[in-house]
Amino acid sequence: MLSVPTTCPYCACGCGFFLQARDGDLVGVAPGESHPVAGGRLCARGWNAHEAPVWGKRVQQPMVRRDGELREESWERALQYVASRLKGLIQAGKLVGVLGSARATNEENYLAGRLARAGLQTNNIDFSHHAACRPLLAGVEDVTGEPFRAARLADIETSDVIVLVEGDLAKTHPRAAASVLTALGKGARLIVVGCVPTQMARLAARFVQTLPGGEGNAINGLLAAVLRGGAEEGRPQAISSQEHDALRRELADVEVTEETQGAAGWIAAAKQAVFLMGPTAGRAEQLRGAAAAFAMLAAIGGAPRRQGSGLLLLLGRSNVRGAGEMGVAPDRLPGYARIDDAAGRERLQRVWGKAIPHEPGLDAAGMLESASGLIVLADDPAAVLPQGRRARAAMERLEFLVVLDAFFTPAVKAAHAVLPVASLAETEGTLTNMEGRVQRVRPASAPPGLALEGWKALARLCARFDAGREWSSAADVLNEIAEAAPRYSSVVRQAPADGWGSTLLEWPELASVAWRPNRGGVLTSPERPYVLAWDGVSDWGSDPLVAHSPTLSRDTQSERKLFPSGLVEMNSQDADALGVRAGWRVRLSSAHGEAVTPIRLRKELPRGVVLAPYGFRDWLADVLGEDGATAVKVERV
Ligand code: SF4
Repeated sequence: MLSVPTTCPYCACGCGFFLQARDGDLVGVAPGESHPVAGGRLCARGWNAHEAPVWGKRVQQPMVRRDGELREESWERALQYVASRLKGLIQAGKLVGVLGSARATNEENYLAGRLARAGLQTNNIDFSHHAACRPLLAGVEDVTGEPFRAARLADIETSDVIVLVEGDLAKTHPRAAASVLTALGKGARLIVVGCVPTQMARLAARFVQTLPGGEGNAINGLLAAVLRGGAEEGRPQAISSQEHDALRRELADVEVTEETQGAAGWIAAAKQAVFLMGPTAGRAEQLRGAAAAFAMLAAIGGAPRRQGSGLLLLLGRSNVRGAGEMGVAPDRLPGYARIDDAAGRERLQRVWGKAIPHEPGLDAAGMLESASGLIVLADDPAAVLPQGRRARAAMERLEFLVVLDAFFTPAVKAAHAVLPVASLAETEGTLTNMEGRVQRVRPASAPPGLALEGWKALARLCARFDAGREWSSAADVLNEIAEAAPRYSSVVRQAPADGWGSTLLEWPELASVAWRPNRGGVLTSPERPYVLAWDGVSDWGSDPLVAHSPTLSRDTQSERKLFPSGLVEMNSQDADALGVRAGWRVRLSSAHGEAVTPIRLRKELPRGVVLAPYGFRDWLADVLGEDGATAVKVERV
């Protein structure tokens, strides 16, 4: 039996495991005791990571749509067709773009960026999961100047205080949740900020319950309480005493409850504090403000200069961070350098030997709305973006859609040209987890049919647009990444010592922080007294890796069978007040539109809140718009 050390393709914790194959067929997964993240533990997703490549319907041959049907083609003819159609659109002055992927390797994302910027001569490059995490990254960057400096997962286990702003950590990032449990077992205190009393919230010493979109106000309260507590003598401070006093004055009107005061006291007295934050419901600017406040809380209360303290953003998929650091963003170059950073631009132009456009491009949603031609790598944007069904319709309107994927996703079915690529079980490359650990992906079996490793397919596309060179391997692409994004040179330099091939990116010490408070929250009114919000901002059920795994897709499939016309959840007291019961339908109306959907009762929800599971957003996207949380009127129908 072949047993290959590789990296989990699911969440951004980045556990390592052995992928097992017999006679070329994937047969299972075994945990790796010595892996620096997994330490011999895996969640259900990791244990079943071999299932999707085995059970999912695979794309095995390049295909081109002719007379309305996808028909098999040779690679040569398919690439020629793709290049001529895209060049035709560019010559006609139409917009084209590229979507990379949070489930593709760094090497694939890097080449997707090179294809867009050097080949198609556009900064219309993004990835769909960026929509959920961009406000968090921007908020942290506003304060620290750098969005990706992060505490390590191992730091959680040695902390005496953990502050968690979450959707549902135990579901989204099980490995991080296990570290929190370990810390609690050693006596750590957990402070949770959120709307729903999740598993973590129930274990917390303090649960600061907020309305959706109100997390920023709760964090401001914690910050105000820490600032009012004054600086503990002898503690290194990330801000000067004048700035400390100025912030304290700015937050003078923030209400601090006894609970918040108690939690702030623990933060201020902690020897080691870790701050964890994932995407929550709310408008992008609210999330950005909340993330900035949280970064400031981590900088002041957690004193990042104390060993092991710091902030860790809970990014949604295995390679969200890697895609960002490969420059898969309309305003960022490799290394997440700003598009207007002259040194970053010059470096990239030198490496690529080509001029690149100056102006920021369109993000993923903007491309779906305005582009005529789109290349999509290993993703189904409509399954990720909040627009849901509208994103699907936008994809179907595209004049020319090219999809590179391993699986028959809805995006593949809508494409005009399909290029088959390997799954993560069949390719080489690297993924960067949320703590900045760059880890190897290794093949345990061969790609089926004519499928190519993704980096090879993208290299062939780059060549068609005079934007490539001969790369001999994924490692050769990584060498180039180290030139384009110098922080990655440590990955190339350090020979993998333990067989796992894992390198933690290094960051200089945080020099200074700056922050201005941002107040927010959803404004309700007598006409619209409820807050409607997404429950989390991720739909694992539509992810091809889950949808094609018989074990992992059971929950989603049964929920979709039980609620074929959508679902919202509310408190039973609110339901009584409205005169409705579980399963009855309600009409929800907001400033954006209205929808009718059944309800499910959830007694632990705060009153005045209606939660919509993200996977059911097709029924509610018109009511929520792109806000993530909005005020609604709820009526019995
Ligand atoms: S915690 Fe995340 S990375 Fe680890 S096994 Fe589970 S899904 Fe994979």
